[in-house]
Amino acid sequence: MHLRLKSIQEVRLFTLTITVLVMFGTVLLHRLILPAELVQVMRVPGVIMAAMLASPTAYFVGLKLLDVHMLTARLEHVVDYDMLTGVNTRTSFYKKIEGQLTAPLAVIVADIDYFKNINDKYGHQSGDLALKQFTSSLVRNCREDDIVARFGGEEFVILLQNAGLKEGVAAANRLCQRIREKPLELKGKQVQITASFGVTQLEDIADVDGAINQADLAVYRAKQSGRDRVCAFDPKLDIAPTPVVAAAQANTYPRPISASSNG
Ligand code: GH3
Ligand code: MG
Ligand code: MG
Repeated sequence: MHLRLKSIQEVRLFTLTITVLVMFGTVLLHRLILPAELVQVMRVPGVIMAAMLASPTAYFVGLKLLDVHMLTARLEHVVDYDMLTGVNTRTSFYKKIEGQLTAPLAVIVADIDYFKNINDKYGHQSGDLALKQFTSSLVRNCREDDIVARFGGEEFVILLQNAGLKEGVAAANRLCQRIREKPLELKGKQVQITASFGVTQLEDIADVDGAINQADLAVYRAKQSGRDRVCAFDPKLDIAPTPVVAAAQANTYPRPISASSNG
């Protein structure tokens, strides 16, 4: 049985239900086990005694069940929403795409440009603040049914519903422009940042990892072409690097997001 009590009102209702059930049970039990003359005598004191024992016990159990519910809800929140930015985690992203989605679908991967410099120049705390501001800018400029998720440190995946490649590229261009035009507030200073975006169309939701990799390869090209831009995945231009090339490139741009790793 999976009993969840979600509020103090539900705890009170639970207590009342259990108490009434125990009172009825007591009457029934008396009828079954006591001689008829004793049933009359014992009914009222027996029922009062049962109620006095059952109600605090049920209330205590109810409060514990409420504690369990609140703890579970907090854990679910931590698993599903990124603690720093508040957007979906990778886990929540995969959960959400199992639901009803409206095709066509497009995938955008966004990666902040030279983010390490922000940490180096303004400190890690300001870096965190920058990430928060960047994310809220993304969310503000996406539609309600777009799924925005933080996949890595400063790497985000956005799944757009009801958008093909053309709409996906237009959305990414809009985001790129908003990020460029809206400086961050760090330590009382206006700091301009930019981000690079990769876009691809998602034909089949079962291949979402393939689409994320494609968009990530397009981000890689956007970085190589000067950053602060949007590249749509092009199978002729965006070829996954061989392990040797990838290792050589490891210092210029991080490896494509691995769909299986955790972040
Ligand atoms: P590029 O334009 O090539 O993407 O350069 P970059 O500096 O953005 O990329 P790089 O991968 O070299 O550095 C990413 C940095 O992001 C390094 C890491 O310390 C920082 N970072 C990752 N997660 C967090 C976080 O949660 N908070 C802060 N403050 N920094 C983070
Ligand atoms: Mg970056
Ligand atoms: Mg990165």
